[in-house]
Amino acid sequence: MALKNTLDQSSEYLLEASQVKKHFPILKGFMQKEVGAVRAVDGVNLQVKRGETLGLVGESGCGKSTLGRTIVGLYEPTDGQIVFNGVNISGLKGLQRKQVQRQMQMIFQDPFASMNPRVRIKKIVGEPLTVHEKLRGSQLTDTVACILEQVGIDAECMNRFPHEFSGGQRQRIAIARSIALNPELIVCDEPVSSLDVSIRSQILNLLKQIQDQFQLTYLFISHDLAVIRHISDHVAVMYLGCIMENADRESLYANPLHPYTQGLLSAIPVPNPKLERERKRIELRGEIPSPSNPPTGCRFNTRCPKCMPGVCGHTVPELIETQPGHWVACHLFS
Ligand code: SF4
Repeated sequence: MALKNTLDQSSEYLLEASQVKKHFPILKGFMQKEVGAVRAVDGVNLQVKRGETLGLVGESGCGKSTLGRTIVGLYEPTDGQIVFNGVNISGLKGLQRKQVQRQMQMIFQDPFASMNPRVRIKKIVGEPLTVHEKLRGSQLTDTVACILEQVGIDAECMNRFPHEFSGGQRQRIAIARSIALNPELIVCDEPVSSLDVSIRSQILNLLKQIQDQFQLTYLFISHDLAVIRHISDHVAVMYLGCIMENADRESLYANPLHPYTQGLLSAIPVPNPKLERERKRIELRGEIPSPSNPPTGCRFNTRCPKCMPGVCGHTVPELIETQPGHWVACHLFS
């Protein structure tokens, strides 16, 4: 495999996002006049330590996938700064962007949709090596074989097409493609959500194994709090384009502070019938509002069981550190 580039490793954080926004314009009429914007990501601050996994959790439509895509450069941020390895990469173009791009990869939810069904596995996994490393012939074949073996796929299968593999195997191939250039950061966007429950743990264990082997850093996106708990070192809870709570895993699961996190955690079933019967659920009322017209003040105020009239609907709560390393955006703590 390709050797890792020499990088500035002075900061303990590989990735730092500050006030990142991604708005999509809403266009109307023949003249395509801009009449509003979908504020999918609206001022996110995040830090991911080298070699660790930051779990990003929230309901569908909260903007977590958009944030992941903005970080890897699939979307241009509307505002804010993304610092990777000490370099501000927002707005980078051309060769500089390409150099950063190879150090950040993405794994998508649906491995079948992210692969061309008419292209053989050898080409799918080998393409980044052909483009960036200029590998050809037997050197390319040997490298692809080595990468496939790392993810548990028999190298003899490299001339097959994606449809000849099961869902779990296809996700292994997607992982193989993502590690081909020996990246620093992988954004995993719901990588096990489309898989059978029996296969999920295998893929999660594979991700952990290659993380240790190649000192990878993950931004792991999921709506599933059990999956996030299994794989993450730190967890950020996202709601309607903003981070509501951010803490290390133990602290967040043992002592969730934000009413939204408390609601999400209370919905996880307990595998003990007695405890499950006694468990109190915190109902989150209503649907997640539209990101094109988010509520004023605290974004969660329309669904929050602890909403304080006259306060929560007027003032946006700051993300503040309530305990060392435990950050919450809620007026109950300000
Ligand atoms: Fe609920 Fe108010 Fe806290 Fe928002 S700021 S989470 S509405 S209590």
